[in-house]
Amino acid sequence: MDNLDRASIEEQRALDRALAVRKTTGPQACGHCLNCFEPLPSDKRWCDADCREDWSKRNER
Ligand SMILES: [Zn+2]
Repeated sequence: MDNLDRASIEEQRALDRALAVRKTTGPQACGHCLNCFEPLPSDKRWCDADCREDWSKRNER
């Protein structure tokens, strides 16, 4: 195995890990909007679609 193979395997692993984290945990609802920190019912993560969009824009990549 050469270094290039090793690098791409590492890259793939990191990608898999990132996807797994996103799938299984993701952002947790914690009683306030993840975007603007307004208090919310504990099952909600954002007040509305706008907040969710803002947040995901900031958190992509
Ligand atoms: Zn909000």
